[in-house]
Amino acid sequence: MALVVQKYGGSSVSDAHSIKRVAKRIAATKRAGNDVVVVVSAMGDTTDELLDLAGQITPLPPQRELDILLTSGERISMSLLAMAITNLGVKAKSFTGQQAGLMTDAVHGRARLVDVVPHRVRETVEKGQVAIVAGFQGVSSTNDVTTLGRGGSDTTAVALAAGLDADVCEIYTDVDGVFTADPRIVPSARKIDRVTYEEMLELAASGAKVLALRAVEYARRYDVPVHVRSSFSSTTGTLVTGTHGDAIDPNAPAAEEETQMEAPIISGVAHDRSEAKITVVGVPDKPGTAARIFEVVAGAGANIDMIVQNVSAAHTGLTDISFTLPHADSPSTLAALNALQDELGFASLQYDDQIGKLSLVGAGMKSHPGVSARLFGALRDAGINIEMISTSEIRISVVTREDALDDAVRAIHTAFDLDSADGEAVVYAGSGR
Ligand code: ADP
Ligand code: ASP
Ligand code: MG
Repeated sequence: MALVVQKYGGSSVSDAHSIKRVAKRIAATKRAGNDVVVVVSAMGDTTDELLDLAGQITPLPPQRELDILLTSGERISMSLLAMAITNLGVKAKSFTGQQAGLMTDAVHGRARLVDVVPHRVRETVEKGQVAIVAGFQGVSSTNDVTTLGRGGSDTTAVALAAGLDADVCEIYTDVDGVFTADPRIVPSARKIDRVTYEEMLELAASGAKVLALRAVEYARRYDVPVHVRSSFSSTTGTLVTGTHGDAIDPNAPAAEEETQMEAPIISGVAHDRSEAKITVVGVPDKPGTAARIFEVVAGAGANIDMIVQNVSAAHTGLTDISFTLPHADSPSTLAALNALQDELGFASLQYDDQIGKLSLVGAGMKSHPGVSARLFGALRDAGINIEMISTSEIRISVVTREDALDDAVRAIHTAFDLDSADGEAVVYAGSGR
């Protein structure tokens, strides 16, 4: 008998019909002799709709209230799902994050888990019942309801799988697994059968939202095998583990060593539209300037990504520093920098929220010469201008105009021979929001 944690994303539970469909799948897993813990997201685009609603009340809602509002989405889906499963003759009970023992710090909007004490979940499973847990939420030491950041239900699922020592954490979504690019943009994207935590971390950090970054970090830390698959098909999905060689089916033969050695250099192309660019124009080029600017930026709570500093103009001794950061962090960062313009000594600030970022990810890229040249060449051939570049051992990222991003992703996908020969990837549901 296995203990399985299954997480169903919003598009898998978007209406009553979908909830009943998912309930059948859960009941079948239970009847096959497994212990089942389910983590569920809010129905469809509920979280975005609640955010829009709050935005109609006030442009900057208090974070504590926003967390209470957003967690209500998962309460709706968890209770409806428990009803649907019970209706099929399988006992099920739903729990909020607090009831399930997901303890967090007090940073509203992006709280971090500090402890997972799932006593009630365990008791429920031991009684032979299905435990349904509301994703994306926890409780702080001051007893306030918190949320784990967008996509946080993935993190809830992996954390519960680790805390309960589950055999596998299944992430059910609206595509058949992790693909070489977002199938909504690149229909010729190929499903990846196995990917390592490191590659998945880099894909997730670069914007591939099929799996939340923090869920991958958690899975790697606690060595939780994650199986990303569709709730709309029975196709085997993508296994995310420590090596390329682990098999999903424990009885299946392990991958040949040869296959591992020939593992593709490139895992995929990720894209991200959630960032903006700030340029600090005319900064004195002397020691300590960058340190001071980024102290101010950090103080504003911004999570910065790429940074570029130009060579200073010889006759003025001034330079420009550009960096990218999430749209959501921009207002506070611009305000903080503007407030210290005299001290920092810059001429002006430029803000650009029409950028897109594309990242080519793959272990072993660094040891293969010519990868960057091929990437830049493909963008040139597609007539796409590159605005910023950054690299790591297993990733090259470029910033383009936002409206050129989809074409850029498709061009790079083709240039690295990632296009699938066998038909188009299926997107079963979801709005892509
Ligand atoms: P859920 O509601 O199930 O949590 P998400 O919308 O968070 O689903 O994530 C699934 C979506 O992630 C897919 O519909 C797809 O558009 C997008 N996506 C982005 N990059 C990838 C990728 N490399 N492979 C698969 N899906 C991807
Ligand atoms: N409902 C939350 C969100 O949309 C959490 C999740 O679905 O993972 O971000
Ligand atoms: Mg998600």
